[in-house]
Amino acid sequence: MTKYEQLNELSDRMLKCSNCALRKTCKQVVPGEGPADAEIMFIGEGPGQKEDELGRPFVGAAGKFLEEMLSLINLKREDVYIANVVKCRPPQNRDPLPEEAAACWPWLLEQIKIIQPKLIVTLGRHSMERFLPGQKISQVHGKAMRREVEGIGKQVFYTLYHPAAALYNGSMREVLIKDFKRIPKIIEKIKEEN
Ligand code: URA
Repeated sequence: MTKYEQLNELSDRMLKCSNCALRKTCKQVVPGEGPADAEIMFIGEGPGQKEDELGRPFVGAAGKFLEEMLSLINLKREDVYIANVVKCRPPQNRDPLPEEAAACWPWLLEQIKIIQPKLIVTLGRHSMERFLPGQKISQVHGKAMRREVEGIGKQVFYTLYHPAAALYNGSMREVLIKDFKRIPKIIEKIKEEN
């Protein structure tokens, strides 16, 4: 099976998942989207209202901002893989509960194993916490870190503030844009090291 076929097959299985209670309240599962051989994978927290309606990740205000930042580094959303820690919308956009994130974790690991991105960019505290537990986002944002994660092996992670949090916060927005613009350099460095 090609990577593309593997991802499709995985998404089909996600659509049938009922491993946590979120599936009961969301409209639909949002597996993620992008090329199966993407170099960069962006991982947010979970679908919001618009994402839940359309079945696609980052299609609301935060998604628009993400697309704007991608254009600053000459990328389009079609060039990267975009997924979330939880694939079903938490009611009223509350934070995912630890058991919900844990129930959804194997899906994310499978996605990463198929795509094998050069860089995983975590968006926001919750996404960071899954891969880099115990870190403070105010301290580790904008720093690329190579870490061994059970189930996926060695992987480079880059932590960013969440675009939704930065959208209406001038200083956080500046920091996020500055961190974002460093992505091409980080990719270049990863390629040199490999
Ligand atoms: N925020 C997220 O974390 N994920 C989405 O898909 C949309 C908004």
